[in-house]
Amino acid sequence: MAIVEVTELMKTFKIPGEDIQVLKGISLAVEEGEFVAIMGASGSGKSTLLNILSSIEEVTSGNVLIDGEIISKENVVNLRRYKTSIIYQDFNNLAYLSASENVMFPMMLAGIELEVARSAAQKLLEKVQLGHRVDHIPDDLSGGEQQRVAIARALANNPKLILADEPTGNLDTQTGNSIIKLFRSLVQEQKITIIMVTHDIQIAKKTDRILILRDGKLHREEDVLDVE
Ligand code: ADP
Ligand code: MG
Repeated sequence: MAIVEVTELMKTFKIPGEDIQVLKGISLAVEEGEFVAIMGASGSGKSTLLNILSSIEEVTSGNVLIDGEIISKENVVNLRRYKTSIIYQDFNNLAYLSASENVMFPMMLAGIELEVARSAAQKLLEKVQLGHRVDHIPDDLSGGEQQRVAIARALANNPKLILADEPTGNLDTQTGNSIIKLFRSLVQEQKITIIMVTHDIQIAKKTDRILILRDGKLHREEDVLDVE
């Protein structure tokens, strides 16, 4: 079953005196349990597309279905809270909270009881191999460890779809590869779907499929190679 179905998606940013047409008719289907990479030049709209899929950004026109539901004002909270999670290049952990508290944070927002959240966070941090670092604040963790905290936090709402915006962009090659391995295990073991933006072809090659954003449209990698 397709977890993501995008039809003729357009996105235009309106700024005074100018319309910036970023996405110009994107159609895309991603099956449950797929691990997909999106590449493209800086400014080509990769983050915009990911933000639309995670319902942070509104579409200008076209349809976006996540797990069979059209993204709309009525179900945006439901989608964000229960279906999707987003991971960023700069980890976005809260600086004054421990690893454990960072992971508990979305559970607190969802009204989960403190002790239940605490033990769930412990389990999630063990899953990302950080069981021994639960009480450390982000500043005391390496970049790779901070990204693992962010991944554990992203898993806290048990999402079906994870959107990752250059998640290895601030990490060295070896650490980046270990994050990709972790993503692969989430895909395999939990059938989570991952759509990841990257500008690193070696990282992209470890996914199931590479899509390239160019001139506001998505192309399959082979099609882009054909024209070059
Ligand atoms: P990428 O992630 O591929 O580098 P982005 O999606 O961040 O690209 O941006 C695509 C284009 O949209 C850029 O030209 C950027 O300046 C523009 N853009 C992004 N967000 C906004 C916004 N909120 N308002 C106006 N323009 C924006
Ligand atoms: Mg970007």
